[in-house]
Amino acid sequence: MQTIAILGSTGSIGTQALELVRLHPEEFRVVALTARSSRKKLFEQVREFRPEVAGLTEPIPMSEIPEDVRFCRWVMGEEALRVAAAEVPADMVLVSVVGIAGLQSVMDALGANRQVLLANKEALVTGGHLVMDAAKRIGKPILPVDSEHSAIFQCLQGAGGNQPVRLLLTASGGPFRTWTREQMQNATRAQALKHPNWSMGAKITIDSATMMNKGFEVIEARWLFDTPCDRINVVVHPESIIHSVIAQLACPDMREPIQFAIGFPERLPLANKKLDFAELGGITFFKPDTEKFPALALAYKAMERGGNIPCALNAANEAAVAAYLHDRISFYWITDIVGECIECTPFIKEPSVEDIFKTNEEIYSLAQRKIEGIAKKG
Ligand code: NAD
Ligand code: MG
Repeated sequence: MQTIAILGSTGSIGTQALELVRLHPEEFRVVALTARSSRKKLFEQVREFRPEVAGLTEPIPMSEIPEDVRFCRWVMGEEALRVAAAEVPADMVLVSVVGIAGLQSVMDALGANRQVLLANKEALVTGGHLVMDAAKRIGKPILPVDSEHSAIFQCLQGAGGNQPVRLLLTASGGPFRTWTREQMQNATRAQALKHPNWSMGAKITIDSATMMNKGFEVIEARWLFDTPCDRINVVVHPESIIHSVIAQLACPDMREPIQFAIGFPERLPLANKKLDFAELGGITFFKPDTEKFPALALAYKAMERGGNIPCALNAANEAAVAAYLHDRISFYWITDIVGECIECTPFIKEPSVEDIFKTNEEIYSLAQRKIEGIAKKG
């Protein structure tokens, strides 16, 4: 029996992880569940999985917690993430919150000697060197949940310790792959939120529409597999079937990579749709268009410069995506703002955890000021 704490349990990854736990009750026990504000869903999860700790990072008074879920310890505010990551005894911590909030949780979990299952890519984008050092110190590799990285990780299990020379990340191209730049200019939130292959949280879905998601994944792979960015390539592959080459082929279904991380080194049986090659017919590949999707080029640039610049990339992107989701700016402002912000970030070569959070705060506010300016004009 393995115990697991799930940070961000009400989200797309969190609920799919709980689905796997539900299928294997004799193998896993949930000890902590946290969410930001989706209290109703969290109450239901607490009723079903009976953790020792539950928490909401947007605090509510204890009086609003129903009687029948008060049996566990409730923690409110940022403290909820720390307690779930590091205080409640757990064999594994699944970090599936959105944004830079994941960085502190990963560091807390590693500091408490926990096995980290990592969905949150922003932790590696902003503080990859810190996370990988901390994981090395405790001798527990980060188990990736992001599907491409899970695929590479799965492929490497059969590589007998040989390190890959080159990594190839596949990208679906998102909802705007076949659109022109002019069409994309005025893409509505609803259009950007309609991903052709994956059903995910709002932030990552917008990141997929700009392809910033793939840029983040290049940085994520750089740290997870200790491979320089110039040896990591992106290829557009609309079917989302080949997740990595040496190939690990599967239908686009996040329960596949979650299953591999949660059950590692065993594979858990999954009753999902299996790949049917005859039905599939063909598999296609394209070169990514960085004119239409400048985010990808920005991410490479940020990683090449290194230091705190990937953190600035993430901070500006978090602010801009939030503004886009609130209909405050149009689509291309997301990458324009990110590009402008990384140009004026004061460079720190080897940022500490404090430097990372300071850069995050400064660049997030800088991006917000730019957004204010645009929103006023518009
Ligand atoms: P989501 O929006 O569906 O869910 C996020 C969860 O985290 C929710 O429980 C929410 O309450 C909580 N949360 C959000 N912001 C928070 C904050 N600031 N502090 C604390 N808790 C917070 O998101 P998701 O799609 O499940 O994605 C989670 C992470 O996994 C992201 O970093 C994303 O990039 C990564 N990821 C997701 C997928 C996917 O298929 N959804 C695939 C690969 C990677
Ligand atoms: Mg991915």
